[in-house]
Amino acid sequence: MNIYLLLNWKMNSTLIESAHLVEKYIEFLLDAPELLKVTIFPPAPYIFPLYEKLANTNSVTVGAQNVFEEPFGAYTGEISPIMISEACSYVMVGHSERRTYFNETNSSINKKIHLIMNNSLTPVLCVGEDLDTYNSGQVDEFIELQIKSACDNIKNIPANRFIVAYEPTWAIGSGLTPPPEIINERALLIKNVITDMGLMTDNASCPVLYGGSVNSINAKSFLELDNIAGLLIGQASLDLNQIGSIINQAFRQAKNNSKLI
Ligand code: PEP
Repeated sequence: MNIYLLLNWKMNSTLIESAHLVEKYIEFLLDAPELLKVTIFPPAPYIFPLYEKLANTNSVTVGAQNVFEEPFGAYTGEISPIMISEACSYVMVGHSERRTYFNETNSSINKKIHLIMNNSLTPVLCVGEDLDTYNSGQVDEFIELQIKSACDNIKNIPANRFIVAYEPTWAIGSGLTPPPEIINERALLIKNVITDMGLMTDNASCPVLYGGSVNSINAKSFLELDNIAGLLIGQASLDLNQIGSIINQAFRQAKNNSKLI
């Protein structure tokens, strides 16, 4: 099983800092097993320069934090998946900061997913409850609705061409996380919803990741979970001590997985 580390830089770093970060990631990933898949999600203007910088390595790939739901047109300031498809392998969609600050709805997320997939990119659908929903005990229903509406009219996706990141909004950037056993249960729920929807071809694998205040201390407890195939990391991806240690832990987990094949 692949282990994914998706590194969401959000709206941080200068171009020079971002080039330095990438050089360090490459160093950390020397001799990494093939099962370890590391992708950076830089601010949009850095996508192509970093893609070019990474041309001679396959240890780190590039993704996009967001795209617009239409292929071309009079949408000032927006970016179409077609425009970044040469440089990117993955596109995040439905991140809670997009839902909260930019009023992104499940229906626009659905349009984006269709367009992303039609352009041979892999969507990373972010789902997760807010604190009120967490306290109300209605989390399963909430997540199920997010997935069903985001994936309306989508079927038969090949293995690993669709990723779900379980990210409770209250855990993002807060220093709080759900207990690992709850994360494992939620990841299983996500897998079951996807199976019931017939989203993947022949029930092929759809990696489920965890995101929300991952750091070098708690990463191992999430990486070890049966239903979790990796991590989506914000803040800690910009801190070389933190990310160096997390990459090391994922490295070991991927080596263990290689032995199981
Ligand atoms: C995120 O941006 O998706 C995220 C998980 O951020 P952080 O790791 O900072 O909580």
